[in-house]
Amino acid sequence: MNVLLVGSGGREHALAWKLAQSPRLGKLWAAPGNAGIANHGECVALNVADHGEVIAFCRENEIDLVVIGPEQPLVEGLANALAQAGIKAFGPSAKAAQLEGSKGFTKDLCARAGIPTAAYARFDDAKAARAYLATQPVPVVIKADGLAAGKGVVIATTREEADAAVDMMFDGGFGAAGAEVVIEAFLEGEEASFFAITDGETVLPFGSAQDHKRVGEGDTGPNTGGMGAYSPARVLTPALEAQVMADIVLPTVKAMATEGTPYRGVLYAGLMLTADGPQLIEYNARFGDPECQVLMMRLESDLVELIDAACSGRLGEIEPKWRDEAALTVVMAAQGYPGTPTKGTVIEGLDAAAGTGAMVFHAGTARDAEGRIIANGGRVLNVTALGATVGEAQAAAYRAVDSIRWPGGFCRRDIGWREVAREGG
Ligand code: ATP
Repeated sequence: MNVLLVGSGGREHALAWKLAQSPRLGKLWAAPGNAGIANHGECVALNVADHGEVIAFCRENEIDLVVIGPEQPLVEGLANALAQAGIKAFGPSAKAAQLEGSKGFTKDLCARAGIPTAAYARFDDAKAARAYLATQPVPVVIKADGLAAGKGVVIATTREEADAAVDMMFDGGFGAAGAEVVIEAFLEGEEASFFAITDGETVLPFGSAQDHKRVGEGDTGPNTGGMGAYSPARVLTPALEAQVMADIVLPTVKAMATEGTPYRGVLYAGLMLTADGPQLIEYNARFGDPECQVLMMRLESDLVELIDAACSGRLGEIEPKWRDEAALTVVMAAQGYPGTPTKGTVIEGLDAAAGTGAMVFHAGTARDAEGRIIANGGRVLNVTALGATVGEAQAAAYRAVDSIRWPGGFCRRDIGWREVAREGG
């Protein structure tokens, strides 16, 4: 099968690496890809917002399957356009991707289907939102309805902060994403990510992970796209996973199907493990980045086979196989991230890092005129390793990190700390 992979991050490098291991893969293309993905396939500069251009490329190059990594093209309907053109695409339709693209849509669906999630209300004007806030205890959570690159959420600890967040969102602080606002009750607990893969009917659990969103050690400092992750998240015990499937994921997929917007692709549930059981914080319509990197390290099954089955309504025939080991990934970012990262600094020692047995997935990398790998974005490398425990995977990942020579980069040194502490390490 010829496959086109859409995206350019560490998530897509991990997918490319795993797709390339399949005996079923013919040629792999990536749009736009990055310097690491180029080791597994051919990178091509397509405008993925132009669905006609993508379809024409697929026809010219006899692409059988398109794997869409990031959320933006899904929300913009790339999967629909490809399906209409008779090309298999892995990822939900624009309507189904509203599970990620509109927080209000998801909250309303949860309410209809009885899915446990924080109490909420939706608003499209500041006055009504502020009147509602006056009746709510703090902390309270204020969210821009649409996609805001993980930045559209304010956890307000005082009423003044809450009012200010509402005003900022309705004043266009998050652009069109904030034209509608969701206000929800604050949930207390530990967060975990749970993944499922579905063809619209059959739903397979697809692993768990925990990530580290803050830039600083001890989970401090500004939010980022994610500074590291590990899998599995053992805090999600088999019993809790079964509960998440039964109470959250299965009712969601069923409701989407009965309401005429069947969901196909990866369903990523962001959960809060509260004293009252797991509650849904949010859905994402794709793999997480960097969670995908640890999942791909642990996945034994053929990814082309799995994705093809998901696109063809054959997931019921598949049972994904996983390694017993834990996986952990450390994100190396360019100095300045999550503000303005410094681009163009040279990275050396990648072969030495790979020699330790770790995988170095590329995110924002490029090659300079001399063929050297240089930083070309905020999050640049994902150093990923396996181990018998999260502690061993952590030690292996940092051994590989330490063999990379990149004065222009930095990473957190405590990825996995919660789990390592639980393991007694
Ligand atoms: P991202 O896409 O970066 O994961 P997002 O912008 O889609 O984030 P959410 O995942 O809904 O937004 O919220 C971001 C973070 O805010 C959550 O990971 C969680 O830490 C916190 N949060 C969101 N809702 C609640 C809540 N009701 N109670 C407590 N914390 C919350």
